[in-house]
Amino acid sequence: MNKYVPVIGLEIHVQLKTRSKVFCTCSTKFGAPPNTQTCPVCLGLPGVLPVLNRKAFRYAIKTALALNCQITNSVRFDRKNYYYPDLPKNYQISQYALPVGIRGYLEIENEGEIKRVRIRRVHLEEDAGKLIHSEDGRFSFVDYNRAGTPLLEIVTEPDINSPQEAYVFLQELRTTLLYLEVSDCNMEEGSLRCDANISLKRKGEEQLGTKTELKNMNTFKGVRQALEYEAHRQLMLLEDGKAVLPETRLWDPGKQATYSMRGKEEVEDYRYFPDPDLVDYEISEELIQELRREIPELPLYRKRRIKEQYELPDRDVEVLIRDKHLADYFEQAMKYYDRPKFLCNFLITDILGAVNELKSNIQDVKLHPNNCAKLLTMIDKGLISIKIAKQIIKDLIISDVDPETYINQKGLVQISETSQLEKIVEKVIGDNPSAVEDYRKGKEKVIGFLVGEVMKLTRGKANPGLVNEILRDKIKQEVQDEKIN
Ligand code: ADP
Ligand code: ZN
Ligand code: MG
Repeated sequence: MNKYVPVIGLEIHVQLKTRSKVFCTCSTKFGAPPNTQTCPVCLGLPGVLPVLNRKAFRYAIKTALALNCQITNSVRFDRKNYYYPDLPKNYQISQYALPVGIRGYLEIENEGEIKRVRIRRVHLEEDAGKLIHSEDGRFSFVDYNRAGTPLLEIVTEPDINSPQEAYVFLQELRTTLLYLEVSDCNMEEGSLRCDANISLKRKGEEQLGTKTELKNMNTFKGVRQALEYEAHRQLMLLEDGKAVLPETRLWDPGKQATYSMRGKEEVEDYRYFPDPDLVDYEISEELIQELRREIPELPLYRKRRIKEQYELPDRDVEVLIRDKHLADYFEQAMKYYDRPKFLCNFLITDILGAVNELKSNIQDVKLHPNNCAKLLTMIDKGLISIKIAKQIIKDLIISDVDPETYINQKGLVQISETSQLEKIVEKVIGDNPSAVEDYRKGKEKVIGFLVGEVMKLTRGKANPGLVNEILRDKIKQEVQDEKIN
């Protein structure tokens, strides 16, 4: 590969998170029985008129803004004409000359370096229906539930230079879209799909090579694998002095290979023209300002800030910012707390652990971030052990009680009373003579076992540090007593 560099451009389709379709009021809910979410508009019956979904339009502008695009002040919808059984109107309403946004960029971080990938355009369009083929190949069925679902198409410039970079770009884009709350980006349900274009360029030359377009990858890893395969396939052709044909190829995840589907269609084939049923839409400066205010701090920048502000390791920050709500929770709790690393660990390991066990998510955690901070402060002050905190966290996150009240009510306050602990330690020493003997002979590790026994007897309430100290003292004392006797 060292004579050539891969040149990659991506076309991403994102399903916008609206309740109804983009030009009619049918539901967009996933998984309904076939053809139950259709109406004359999305079935393309004669005499009907499309009406633009305001929310989809706002989401499109918001995304274009977040991707640093220039917003077109008057946008237009065009008909993209082609015949296919999943397209009942024989045309798709899309945008051609006047898309919502043009000339933007998204910054990504790959191996510590920031790179700008230019966004060529962002446009709003409608999805087609879905064909389902019977396994024996005798029948094909069509489901129009998806027809008319709002899609945002995001097209990059060919600025990406490796399959791995494409992978990182997709992850950054996905996280960004999730932060914007415009799509659920659920790849299994097809809310985020990506076609990848790739060619090889001779190093040091400006001229781009002939590209192929890859389709049918349904995971980001699939996109990376398909690109790796295709880069290799093109390299072999070029090294043999053969030409790369401009074509659309499908990725077969089973075979881990791409195969030719069809020659590339040209834009002329679609006979785009403005949809006479829809007017041009003005995007006012006020609307732009309003939507700009809805854009939160985006993940790449938040990652850098959180890392600096709380001095956390990269790996922790990655986990925190991947989910906006998790990062929000962390930063909320930090307003009442001062040990970021401890909070981060507790949040990622214990709270998320419990959340996963409950098949819930961080947004539904009832324990208010300030109460989480309170719980951790109680550990810091030695009022409860971390073990108790871990035990009760599930209760706390489903019930929204003040942890202090809860702990007092359940009698979980840590035993830090020396006299009380001494009695228990004495019992443990008496019950485990051989372990004590081992410890005396120098087996340091045995102390852990003995502490564990005390914890068992106190059901986790003993202050482990204190128990450790008392144990050592008591055993030492016994030795001295024996010597005196
Ligand atoms: P087409 O006219 O074949 O549809 P476009 O110029 O519209 O091609 O680009 C479609 C996508 O392909 C864009 O994401 C673009 O960045 C990418 N692309 C364009 N030319 C190349 C190339 N030579 N190699 C790789 N990707 C390319
Ligand atoms: Zn409809
Ligand atoms: Mg094109």
